[in-house]
Amino acid sequence: MKRIFIVILLVMYHCLSIAQESSKNLDFSAIYQHFVVMEQLQSGKEPTTNQWADLFDTPAYKTLLDNEFRKPIRFQEVFRAAYLPGYTKDINEILSKIDLKGAWWTSWVTSLLEAYENVPKQKTQLLDLINAYKRLDLSEFAIKESARFLSDEKFEGFPKVAFLIFNDSRGYDPIILSLNSFLKADDARDNNALDCMVNKGFNEHFSFQLLYAHEAFHYYRNKKEEFRFPDDNDPYSSLIWIMNQIANEGIADQIDKVNQYFNPGCFADTREGEQYLNYLAMQPELIKRLDSLFVEIKNYPDSSQILSRKFSKMIPRSGHQTGFYMCNTIIEEFGVQSIRTVSRNPFSFFKLYQKAALKNEKYPVFSKDAIACIEILEEKFSLE
Ligand SMILES: [Zn+2]
Repeated sequence: MKRIFIVILLVMYHCLSIAQESSKNLDFSAIYQHFVVMEQLQSGKEPTTNQWADLFDTPAYKTLLDNEFRKPIRFQEVFRAAYLPGYTKDINEILSKIDLKGAWWTSWVTSLLEAYENVPKQKTQLLDLINAYKRLDLSEFAIKESARFLSDEKFEGFPKVAFLIFNDSRGYDPIILSLNSFLKADDARDNNALDCMVNKGFNEHFSFQLLYAHEAFHYYRNKKEEFRFPDDNDPYSSLIWIMNQIANEGIADQIDKVNQYFNPGCFADTREGEQYLNYLAMQPELIKRLDSLFVEIKNYPDSSQILSRKFSKMIPRSGHQTGFYMCNTIIEEFGVQSIRTVSRNPFSFFKLYQKAALKNEKYPVFSKDAIACIEILEEKFSLE
């Protein structure tokens, strides 16, 4: 009896140490520091220089600032609007204070403000979620899923993940995930989707696991791209950017969108699911229109900058559904394994789509001239 007890204790200790080991790569410091700054502002006081510095030095904010947002004031003004009593909540006024304008920034500030404003009532839920993620072994799944689409990857250690309150996620190093996206929603359709997943035998944190794995794919894939990005002033820069988005997001979406919208598909009826599937249905027509733009780009190199911009503006949702459609076509004809050979090179991805589409007349194919254009770009920007 005593021996059994010792064995049980040893097994428990082993499981606990594995869970702790695998959660070491998860950083929650931006959430804790968010609470500090929030409480200071709620009491009507401006956070001290050190409190702001501690927030922007956390891996999550530091990475977002270095890669994208540059100026801390862009976050600071949203913090003040969300929590400082009497401070303006007018989006245009906030935008003018941080000297930004345009549709993208408007929607960024609007959704970030909404996310921040929800935090006071979500604090307990957020802390519960942190405890759950620290306990569960979630990184193995992310690595296994990424490995399905990447070749020759050693996957040493676990990817680093930094959580914060945000409106989106990023496949940077560390991976940036907004913790608030995984809280139980007010939306009934989202809650039904979560219940449906649990009823089908998935754990309650499965949507988090899927998104983590999606971003982990970007993290590993982007470490070793097989092409080079042109400079911002290169005439083809927006074209290469969107072609890469199409390949990168189309493959990453195989990890989370297949489970969410198709099999088992519990999220197909949510607002986001409906939107995703509507865009997906438009893709065959869109690909036909892209074909003529590729041809124009080939025939009028002097206009390549304008045409490249036009091309990238034509693709909705940063290429997710276009890439997903193309990737599905490739998988249907050549199997999942075939994606590994093209996952790090957008030009190979487009050319493999063409090969797959030629095998089945239900898919739109690119014309000879469009493929010639892709080959010119491949010659120019591929590393191999
Ligand atoms: Zn992505």
